[in-house]
Amino acid sequence: MLDVAIVGGGLCGLALANSLQAQGLTFAVFEARPRLGGRIHTVEARNNGLPMDMGAAWFWPQTQPRITHLLRKLNLASFPQHDTGKLLNLPDPETPPVPLEMDDMHSGAQRIEGGAARLVEALAARLPGASLHLEQVLERLVLGEDRVELHFRHQPEPVPARQVVLALPPRLLEERIEFVPPLNGQLRETLRETPTWMGAHAKLAASYGKPDGMDAAGIDRAAFWRDDGQSGNGVATHPRAVLGEIHDACDALGARAGLSGFFALTAPLRAAFRLGLPMLARSQLIQWFGPRAQEAEIRIQDWADETWTSSRLDRIPAEEHPAYGNALLQMPCWNGRLHFGGSETASHGGGYMEGALESAGRLRRELLISRSALSGSVEACPS
Ligand SMILES: Cc1cc2nc3c(=O)[nH]c(=O)nc-3n(C[C@H](O)[C@H](O)[C@H](O)COP(=O)(O)OP(=O)(O)OC[C@H]3O[C@@H](n4cnc5c(N)ncnc54)[C@H](O)[C@@H]3O)c2cc1C
Repeated sequence: MLDVAIVGGGLCGLALANSLQAQGLTFAVFEARPRLGGRIHTVEARNNGLPMDMGAAWFWPQTQPRITHLLRKLNLASFPQHDTGKLLNLPDPETPPVPLEMDDMHSGAQRIEGGAARLVEALAARLPGASLHLEQVLERLVLGEDRVELHFRHQPEPVPARQVVLALPPRLLEERIEFVPPLNGQLRETLRETPTWMGAHAKLAASYGKPDGMDAAGIDRAAFWRDDGQSGNGVATHPRAVLGEIHDACDALGARAGLSGFFALTAPLRAAFRLGLPMLARSQLIQWFGPRAQEAEIRIQDWADETWTSSRLDRIPAEEHPAYGNALLQMPCWNGRLHFGGSETASHGGGYMEGALESAGRLRRELLISRSALSGSVEACPS
């Protein structure tokens, strides 16, 4: 029997697996998707090979010590988000953009060289391959005398474990997983009330493979907006905007050029205009940056359509960054056999990669404490 079964192979699950390995425990990570990383997902542009972060991209070293430390420990390089130059504001659908001076729009944000998926790959590479199970969808958890049984879709036999960690968005687990015995009402309500960060949003990646010349150092100047004194940052504040914001997404040297941004359209509108979205996005890129923006290879990642990220309740976006870290989600259930994790359970950095790491750290301590106190009796979660 496993000491710990971790459900969810995102940053939280993988970071926790690394620390359980260091403690010499038996564990396994069960992930629903055919890939690891969850909301960290980097794809390579076909036209110029640029790694494009379709999920998490930025971290802030001044305020996020855990991710900063982890990247250093894993020898992963980072570089500052390119913010130098003018920000272009589109206040009206018909008129040219208004340039604004704003040199630190991203408040000192850094990006991971090669894309955020490098972090996922580095964490996974330190784990035994046999501990990572892809395409395993948890559907049901049953509390037994001395164990929890995990029932996965299309698996005839349940997997037993002494302790289980659910390292996935609270709303999603409340919607998709059956608990026997059921979780109490207050806990279920709290799970439902905790929005999945960015679960309602969609990201655009535009890569530019046709260089319009090389500079003295032999670097492609495909990032034409930089040559025009623009940062690549843009906002659109009018109600007919398709994209709400755009940013420079070039690689560290600025050699492979790209922009990335977020849609302003809501999930239902994106679904209604799905086929036309690339064309609509392209025309807004042209309105921001001129005719050279036309040549983009466009990718769209709609997180509201992602079964393993977004719950039904997440289709309506949170109006501001939610207050994460509800104490109820940080308490073990089922006498220390069931634990909740993931970025949305963090008190610091909730919603961000930093929060995923904070929750992994809390789980490591919590699993240790509750392991020594485990008893066989069935008890409801604290309420
Ligand atoms: C568009 C976008 C932009 C973002 N930008 C930033 C940013 O710039 N900076 C930043 O710090 N953060 C950003 N984030 C947030 C960041 O990605 C998350 O905070 C972090 O990746 C969460 O990690 P996690 O492990 O807690 O959860 P997740 O990454 O959601 O991992 C949960 C895992 O559980 C799996 N799973 C779900 N259900 C089941 C099931 N039933 N059975 C088995 N497995 C299951 C999922 O497939 C997933 O892999 C962004 C997110 C998005 C979507």
